[in-house]
Amino acid sequence: MKRVALFPGSFDPFTKGHEDIVLRGLVLFDEIIVAIGYNSQKDHRYFKIDFMIEKIQETFSKYPQISVITYSELTAELARKQNANYLLRGLRNTTDFEYENSISQVNRYLNSQLESVFLITSPPFAAINSSIIREVHRYGGDVSPLLPYKL
Ligand code: ADP
Repeated sequence: MKRVALFPGSFDPFTKGHEDIVLRGLVLFDEIIVAIGYNSQKDHRYFKIDFMIEKIQETFSKYPQISVITYSELTAELARKQNANYLLRGLRNTTDFEYENSISQVNRYLNSQLESVFLITSPPFAAINSSIIREVHRYGGDVSPLLPYKL
């Protein structure tokens, strides 16, 4: 059976830290679906959703086994629909761990077939955080070294 993983997140924006998790995930999975969680009625994104889809596709253009979708439903439900048995997530620190720990319990309760797999961030990317990138960008700072594509 093909090993399909969903990599869910807000990706506002998608960073080199996210790219690293996906590329390392390729060793474990046959297919990885980057899933941007987005509710057009409620969410205010800093980077436009269509722009981010394009940039993530561009980042992984050499990898046919990586795709990008958006969703606005339970991640556990989406995984079922996409025939994904794994959720791929990254861990930077204990704050990530606390959050990921509870969310993975809920996801498995909602979909018993779903196993969460965590990769520890690579040291050069440990400090990369989407919300800090938004702040730096908002005030005109250069965020290009933190992103795998040109803005
Ligand atoms: P969410 O809003 O679900 O936390 P994010 O877009 O912030 O979504 O992150 C998606 C996933 O990527 C999460 O598992 C998060 O812990 C992980 N992640 C974010 N930044 C990094 C990084 N620099 N290195 C490794 N993993 C990261």
